[in-house]
Amino acid sequence: MLGLRSIRLRLTLWYVLLLAIILAGFSAGIYLTLRHNLYANLDDSLQTRANDLMPLVSYDGARPTLAQDISTNSPDLGEQFARVYDASGRLTFDNSSEAGTVPVDTEALQQALAGKTSTRGARVDGDPFRVLVAPIEQEGRVTGALEVGRAADDVSDALRSLLLILGAAYPVTLALASLGGIFLASRALSPIDKLTRLARRISAEDLSQRLNLRLPDDEVGRLARTFDDMIARLDDAFRRQRQFTADASHELRTPLTAVKGEVEVALTRPREPDAYREVLQRVNEEADRLIRLVGSLLTLARADAGQIPVALEAIDVPDLVSAAVEQVRPAAQQRDIELVLAPGTPVTLRADEDLLLQLLLNLLDNAIKYTPSGGRVTAGWSTDGTRVELWVRDTGAGIAPEHLPHIFDRFYRADKARSRAEGGVGLGLSICRWIAEAHGGSISAESAPGQGATFTVRLPR
Ligand code: ADP
Repeated sequence: MLGLRSIRLRLTLWYVLLLAIILAGFSAGIYLTLRHNLYANLDDSLQTRANDLMPLVSYDGARPTLAQDISTNSPDLGEQFARVYDASGRLTFDNSSEAGTVPVDTEALQQALAGKTSTRGARVDGDPFRVLVAPIEQEGRVTGALEVGRAADDVSDALRSLLLILGAAYPVTLALASLGGIFLASRALSPIDKLTRLARRISAEDLSQRLNLRLPDDEVGRLARTFDDMIARLDDAFRRQRQFTADASHELRTPLTAVKGEVEVALTRPREPDAYREVLQRVNEEADRLIRLVGSLLTLARADAGQIPVALEAIDVPDLVSAAVEQVRPAAQQRDIELVLAPGTPVTLRADEDLLLQLLLNLLDNAIKYTPSGGRVTAGWSTDGTRVELWVRDTGAGIAPEHLPHIFDRFYRADKARSRAEGGVGLGLSICRWIAEAHGGSISAESAPGQGATFTVRLPR
């Protein structure tokens, strides 16, 4: 049964089975057509012979007969014969003795006496003969019957030879076809075998391997390339997952190490209550950072798992942007940053209000964090009917071109020290991007160093 699990064998078996049926039908067709034609020819020659003999029929009273001398103009008497019957079915002429004993077919004779010509096959002393019986008519009346016969061994010999040839050719053709089928199937399937062997070598630990088969752009070639693409995507996903875990561990360790250091130093000797308060304040700050970090991690993990529901509802865009601006106004004032809400036309949008508010707060928060005192942060929106754009612009230090493509990556920070000092964990923009994409939109940043940055979120309405 193991063999039947190979496509090669099954293909070949199907192929041979179909071929066997087709070949059998074809052979039968040839044999039957030839047989029909050969017998039709023989019957025609019998009819001609009967037509030739009819004028030679003479009458003995009312009984028809043939002159004995027709025997002399028949060179091969063993091969053919003629017999004449009168109206009552009695023989009046018979030269069949050379051919052998020809049985009388009374039914065919009665038919002939009733005016109907018929042909039949007969055995004469074991040899095949073809026999025709035709009515003899005189002045519209049936006066007797003429029977002519001719040996059919040529025809039956030819048919037997054909049968032998077909019988021998059939198994030989099938055997050759099976070999050809196995060869073709093997050729067609050998790249798949190769693919299977190579694919087996690729494991989750080592996704860097590729099949890299140089195959033409056919079904198997496309399969191999699709497979390589899939491995590349898996490789990428695994790599990012590993990187993410490493980054997350690192980010978690930093505040914990800071806390441990502060506490250990504080405990080396007794201190004034103010000194303890200071230490506790710093520990508190680190705890806040940890809480933010773990919160962001949780958000991203749930976003990856598709566990954050996006509840679409009609939201008023001007209300949303001004609510976000008002929330960050105290922070902006504290840093002496001018916060501006750019005017825009009223527009509504189907989106998740909580998520969009979080997105805007992240962008505003960053803008304020990375803009020095005296700078300006502007938030606004615009629409072209099918899309709504939300944007946040600042006059801060901007982002260098080499960092720009990466700032939406998890844990990516253009200036690590600066970000840490500001309490950043490097996940804010990743979350923003997820929120934009979860709404079918996108987020992008434009910036030149020293000229501030503009973050734009494009959402379908
Ligand atoms: P972080 O917690 O470090 O702010 P984000 O994911 O929010 O993390 O941002 C990633 C990085 O992008 C930041 O570390 C910072 O270098 C850069 N960045 C984000 N917003 C701005 C901005 N408005 N101006 C300059 N740089 C920015």
